[in-house]
Amino acid sequence: MFDTVLVANRGEIALRVIRTLRRLGVRSVAVYSDADAGARHVRAADAAVRLPGGYLDAEGVVAAAKATGALAVHPGYGFLAENTAFARRCQQEGLVFVGPPPEAVEAMGDKIRAKETVAAAGVPVVPGGAEPADDLAEAARRVGFPVLVKPSAGGGGKGMLVARSPEELPEAVESARRTAQAAFGDATLLIERYVADPRHIEIQVLADAHGNVVHLGERECSLQRRHQKIIEEAPSPLVDDAMRSRMGADAVRAARAVGYVGAGTVEFIVSGDQPGHPAFFIEMNTRLQVEHPVTEMVTGLDLVELQLRVAAGERLPLTQDDVRMDGHAVEARVYAEDPSRDFLPTGGRVLSLAEPEGEPGVRVDSGIQEGTVVGSDYDPMLSKVIAWGPDRGTALRRLDAALRATTVLGVTTNIAFLRALLADPGVVAGDLGTGLIERRLGALLDGAYGPGGLPADVVSAAALILQDRLAGTAGDDPWDVPDGWRLGEPAWTTWPLSARDETAEVRVRGLPRRAASVAVDGATPASARLAGGPDALTGRGDALVTLDGLTSRFACAVSGGTVWLGRDGRTWAVTPHEPGDRGDRAGAGRAGDGVVRSPMPGTVLLVKVVVGERVTEGQPLLIVEAMKMEHTVTAPSDGLVAELPVRAGQPVDMDAVLAVVHDEAGESPAEPAPEGGTGAATVTGGS
Ligand code: ADP
Ligand code: ADP
Ligand code: MG
Repeated sequence: MFDTVLVANRGEIALRVIRTLRRLGVRSVAVYSDADAGARHVRAADAAVRLPGGYLDAEGVVAAAKATGALAVHPGYGFLAENTAFARRCQQEGLVFVGPPPEAVEAMGDKIRAKETVAAAGVPVVPGGAEPADDLAEAARRVGFPVLVKPSAGGGGKGMLVARSPEELPEAVESARRTAQAAFGDATLLIERYVADPRHIEIQVLADAHGNVVHLGERECSLQRRHQKIIEEAPSPLVDDAMRSRMGADAVRAARAVGYVGAGTVEFIVSGDQPGHPAFFIEMNTRLQVEHPVTEMVTGLDLVELQLRVAAGERLPLTQDDVRMDGHAVEARVYAEDPSRDFLPTGGRVLSLAEPEGEPGVRVDSGIQEGTVVGSDYDPMLSKVIAWGPDRGTALRRLDAALRATTVLGVTTNIAFLRALLADPGVVAGDLGTGLIERRLGALLDGAYGPGGLPADVVSAAALILQDRLAGTAGDDPWDVPDGWRLGEPAWTTWPLSARDETAEVRVRGLPRRAASVAVDGATPASARLAGGPDALTGRGDALVTLDGLTSRFACAVSGGTVWLGRDGRTWAVTPHEPGDRGDRAGAGRAGDGVVRSPMPGTVLLVKVVVGERVTEGQPLLIVEAMKMEHTVTAPSDGLVAELPVRAGQPVDMDAVLAVVHDEAGESPAEPAPEGGTGAATVTGGS
């Protein structure tokens, strides 16, 4: 085994690899970009080296390995994991790249070549066509619409777009090509027949350098949004022993076809409504996969340890007959995104963090800590919560409980949405499909956020915390309280509050910590009392709020005038504002004032209009990109483009003004948007 291993990655996967290194007694070296100085993975490793050029800085990684005496480099996933030039550089420098031989990565890294190679080995592939051999429009006509346009070098669902008709194809190709170039540096595309609502089932394979290849069974990853996995499980509720050995044999054949060594994943789609159909190969990921923990939990194996042993030249310690699957495991990916705002990426500083610890069958692979700043430079995945149970029902229940116990304040996440998804009847029944989320989106959002309105105890808690802080310096002496308390006739203080595009007016009277009254939106006042709350020093803590004798417990944090409250995996960022003003950033980018703002921090990718141009409502104005995802920003109304203060390539903050559209008379329309007015930003495709 290696003495020292460098981990060329960040976040949860770097931490996960370091964990195994520690268990094996191997010294670990982390690397970090300037944005990640002080990050969790840097502190967890035995040594850490700054990468001036960030995580894609191959030369920096090689130099760091030499400087620290590392003999092997584990690339995690993403970044340099599938970069054959880097793998070859490692070889040149006498470093072991913990991954397959460069030739295998090359053969599989390109979806077009991969399909050709495995098809020749007798593995079924989805019908399609590919550049440069085929004209995409002609190939699409041949296989029939709808078709899926894919970047050949793609990954993570990026840049994949469905074209339902010949008319839709040119735009899908244009956008897919742009994303492919930006995200993967390679604009080559392929098209495939779009299989309606398929199930994504993938096989984990493991090969050593002595010709042994085994598979570790399947994972089902059908719960996806825009081709990006959200929840994954092992085993698949669809797969029986016969199907498992059939798919396993295909996967092993695919791996052998490219001389594979190490851990890899062979991905298939299975038509949901034609169960007799074969599982079609779609691609092979020549690396550790995000969802590998579910396989680890049902097989009891440590895939990172096996990767290291194989890389060190050892034989696989097990044969196919030794592979056992026990129980069921489910993983949920926690993303910095806001499902209630069309899943736009969020960001911010983690003010307070709670993750389940030591619960039976629960594993948390997290990359964040209190103080972590989540920006737009990297993938928005913050952590993974994984639960095992002797049966699927237990695993799902444990996962839900673990998500309920996860609270991230300061950065909006998808946790409430994940919980709603786990409760979906189709999910509970194991009746999965890649279209499930889109189809059930309305119900899932209702389940996550309620059908409307802010819970009274949430806004009451926020108002009490704000009132208490107003009185804060005064301690307990009622005479010093600057507002809301006068001898003889206690006054009401009104807190107009907003959170998640909703508003509430909360009136508070009295001292929150002793005896107060709270009235929400004109309702009958309730007796109220606050215990705990944000700590004066750290700005965070637990708050107990009692309303008419009923106590609710929240995690809370205060920052920049916003009160963050969390309970059961749900969070609210409550902001006070002037009466009559919607106050929060919900107004950003909405129709009404003609000002179009950036829905997220990112970079302007493309400006599609010019100043003075006449536009119609909904017409694309610009494309903003964050985390390699494209977001089309559209005109809020008919009119003329009056201002366009940004240009392509320019980084923009959340809420930055991107354009101003005036009506024909040259005036900005005065009508304010209706409550909950629609944002002018829409997300396009899976790009
Ligand atoms: P899949 O690629 O099948 O979605 P994962 O979900 O394991 O597999 O993706 C792993 C991570 O690596 C994701 O965060 C994804 O965004 C990123 N990724 C995958 N392929 C690439 C690639 N070729 N280049 C850059 N990042 C990638
Ligand atoms: P990536 O490298 O981005 O992971 P994949 O080829 O693995 O790209 O596809 C990602 C997801 O898109 C799959 O998991 C599946 O849900 C969906 N998908 C891929 N190919 C097809 C297809 N031909 N028809 C329908 N859905 C598909
Ligand atoms: Mg894939």
